[in-house]
Parts: sequence; C-alpha cells; structure tokens
Amino acid sequence: MSVLTATAAPVISTGSMPQETHKPSHPDTFKVVFTPGEFMSSLISLKDFKKGDVVTMITGYIPSERTRTSIQVGLRQHVEWNTDMVFAQHSCNPNLGVDLQYENKDEWRVVALRDIKVGDYLTWFYPSTEWDAWGGGFPCSCGTSRCIGHYKGGKGMTLEQLATYEYINPHIIDLHKLEDA
Ligand SMILES: [Zn+2]
Repeated sequence: MSVLTATAAPVISTGSMPQETHKPSHPDTFKVVFTPGEFMSSLISLKDFKKGDVVTMITGYIPSERTRTSIQVGLRQHVEWNTDMVFAQHSCNPNLGVDLQYENKDEWRVVALRDIKVGDYLTWFYPSTEWDAWGGGFPCSCGTSRCIGHYKGGKGMTLEQLATYEYINPHIIDLHKLEDA
C-alpha cells in the first residue's frame, strides 16, 4: 500500500475550480462542461480511447483533508485531484477506472474501461476510491442498469457487490476487511 509521507505539509483545499479562473489541466484530452449548480459540471473526452488505454497518469494532486471533491488514495489518505479529473462525474457503469493499486505512486493512472469516443462524458465509480461518501453521498442518477441507487461510498456496498466492479482499489477492500473483522 502506498502512503503519502508523514512529512508532506497538509494542504486543506476545497478543490473548487471556478469557471472564471479555470485553466484546463489536460487541454488535449479533457473539456470541462461547466453547468450551473453545485458540483453539476462534468467532463468530456477530446480523444478516442480503446478499452485498456491509459487516459491520464495521476499527477499534480495535493494532500488534503477529506472534502466533497477529494479522492481517497489510502486507508486514511485523501488528495485533491488538482486537475480537471475533479469534474468527472460518478456513474455505476463508468467508462473510466481510477487505478491506485501500484505501490509506486508514479504509476497511479486513469484507464479506459471501454472504448471512448470524442465527446463522450467521462465517469468513474466513486466507491472504487471512496470509503465513506462525503455528506452521506447522494442518490445516483446515472440511469444505468447497474445503478447502486444511493451512493454512500465503498462502505455502503458488500464485498460481493464491489467485486462486480472493476478497479476497486485495495484500500477499499482493506477497509471492508477491517470493519468485518
Ligand atoms: Zn448509478
């Protein structure tokens, strides 16, 4: 399990990236669709990807407290994306996998779970990284046949349910085992 070093200065960030000051982090890969309302914006692809392609390596993140926009990268470690990936919405049938299984953090990556076309909305499965959903989560409106209903984080699902999804990260499995022990 890769952990952030204890010496890293804690940076508390809301992850907020308002449209007025937004600078695209991946101008060749992602386009942010800004939408009025809290956390309603979304991300679309500017490239075609084949299933299994690396969409982006995960770099530039900032150690953080747990926030609405943070991503959990370990048992107790959270970071802010600090990139346009923060705008990728949750789906229960996502086209992206967030892959943190590597001991070496430089290997962390976002992969295409199926073929992706230019203009496709980019989504990932939030319980694959988040144990406890911020603010109790939200009713999912992905509308897919695999919808889990109310998103509560990995702790709101059984290991058997989680096993039917790809790229459930090791810390989610470990936290389940700790809770079940
Ligand atoms: Zn859903």
